[in-house]
Amino acid sequence: MKKKDLLRGIPKVDEVIKQDALFFLLEEKGCVAVTEASRAVLDKLRQEIMALKDEDADSFDMSKLDICRIAEDVADRVKEDEKCNLFPIINATGTILHTNLGRAPLCKEAVENVVEVSRGYSSLEYNVEKGKRGSRHDLVGELIAELTGAEDAMVVNNNASATLIVLATLGKGKEIVVSRGELVEIGGAFRIPDIMVQSGAYLQEVGTSNKTKPSDYENAIITKEQEKELASKESYRGTKRFETGALMKVHKSNYDIVGFTEEASLEDLVKIGKKHNLPVIFDMGNGLMLDLEEYGVREPNIPKSLAAGIDIILFSGDKLLGGPQAGIIAGKKEYIEKMKKHPLARVIRVDKMCFAALEATLMKYRDEKIALRDIPVLNMISSSKEEMKSKAERLAEEIRTANSNLNIELVEVEDQIGGGSAPSVRLPSWAVAVEDSKMSAQGIEIMLRRADIPIVARIHEDRLLLCVRTIAESEFKDIANAFRTGNC
Ligand SMILES: *Cc1c(COP(=O)(O)O)cnc(C)c1O
Repeated sequence: MKKKDLLRGIPKVDEVIKQDALFFLLEEKGCVAVTEASRAVLDKLRQEIMALKDEDADSFDMSKLDICRIAEDVADRVKEDEKCNLFPIINATGTILHTNLGRAPLCKEAVENVVEVSRGYSSLEYNVEKGKRGSRHDLVGELIAELTGAEDAMVVNNNASATLIVLATLGKGKEIVVSRGELVEIGGAFRIPDIMVQSGAYLQEVGTSNKTKPSDYENAIITKEQEKELASKESYRGTKRFETGALMKVHKSNYDIVGFTEEASLEDLVKIGKKHNLPVIFDMGNGLMLDLEEYGVREPNIPKSLAAGIDIILFSGDKLLGGPQAGIIAGKKEYIEKMKKHPLARVIRVDKMCFAALEATLMKYRDEKIALRDIPVLNMISSSKEEMKSKAERLAEEIRTANSNLNIELVEVEDQIGGGSAPSVRLPSWAVAVEDSKMSAQGIEIMLRRADIPIVARIHEDRLLLCVRTIAESEFKDIANAFRTGNC
C-alpha cells in the first residue's frame, strides 16, 4: 500500500458523523462538538500517515482506517473536549485555606442549597409574604445580626470590595487614620494604601512600623474647622489636610510584628472615636466567628470585636468563616444603610449562589458544636494530632493495598491555616510519606498531579508527603488509585 492510497482511505467527516456510534452523542452534544472532534481525529490520522517513511507504508495498521474505530475515537474526543478548566482537585498540602486551591471547601448543606436555589427561580429579590419586590440585602442581615451582635450587615463580592465601599462611603474626600504597622498587602494588587486611593479617601498614616500608640491616632484627627484653617495657611511641604472620616484598624493577616512592638487595641480606638464622634472601622479579614484558642488559634473573633464597640467590621466569607467567596460588612445600621445606597453597591453585589451557600453556612453557627463539626475549615482546624495520626494510618493502608512496591511511612508535620489568616498558627499533625525505588519525589509529585482527580502534594527533604488534614476520607480511594501499580 502506498502513502497516497492510505491517505485516500481516510473517511470524510460527513461519513464519520453518520456512524451509529455517534448517533446519541450528536443528539446530546450537538453537531458542532461532534464535527469538530471528527475533524481533529481525522487530522491527527492524516498527519500520522504523512509522517510515515515510504517503506513503512506497507506495514501500516489498516484497522486505524476503520470507520467504526474512528467513530469511537471521536466519541472519546468529544468527552475530552467537554472537560472544564475548573475542576475538583485533592489538597494534600495540609494548608487549610489554600488561595490557589479555592480557599474554603463548603459544608454539605451549603452545596445542596446552591443546587436547590440555582436550578430554578428563587426569592432573591422577592418578598413572598407581601407578594412584592424585596431586597437581596435582607436575606442574611438578620441572621448575621443574631450571630454577631451587629445591628445590620451587607454582603459584597469579597473583602477587597468591602474595604472599597466602606472607605468610599465613610471616607471620600476625608482622611482615614491607619497605623503604619498595618498597611497590609494581602496579595496581588490588594494593598491598603492603593484601595484607599481608589475609594477617594485620603490615607493618614500614624505611628511607626513597630509601634503605634493610641495618642498617635488622636493627634492625627482633624476637624472640619481645622481643615478650613489649615487650608488658609501655607501648609507643610504643600500637603493639604482634610477632615478625618474614620479611624481604621487592619488585621495583620499574613505577617506578625515581633520584638519591640506596641499597637492600639480596638477598645483604645473606640474610646477615641467616641470622644471625637468618629466611626471606627476594623478590616478583620479572616472572618473567625468562634473562640478557637483551645486549638492554638489566638485571633480576634467577630462577636468579640463588635462587643468592643467598633462601628463597622469587614471580613471574607471564604477564609475562617468557611463559606463562599464574599465580603461581609457588619455593624451600625446608620452606616450599613448608607453603603446599601452607594452606587458601588450594585457593582460589587453577589448572586443567588453566593447567598445560598452563605446562608446555609451561617445557619451552622447557631450552635458552636455544629459549626465545628460540619464546617470543613473549622473541622480541620479542630481535629487533634491523634485523629490525624489514625487518619494517616488509614490512608497509608489504602495506598499499601493498591501498590505493595512503595515505601510508606508516617511522619510528623505541622499544618498551616494559610490564606492570609492566622500566620503564626501551626497545627501539629501527621502525614503519609511515599517513596518509590524507581521514581524520585519530583516524579511522584508530577504523576499525582496527572491523576484523574489531580492531587497536589508537598515535597519535604526529598520526600513526597500527603498531609491528611486537608484530605477528605472520601478521597482516599482516588489517591490509592493514583498509586496503583502501572502508574508508578
Ligand atoms: C484577606 C483579606 C482581605 C482581602 O479579602 P478577599 O476576600 O480576599 O478580597 C482584606 N483585608 C484583610 C485584612 C484580609 O485578611
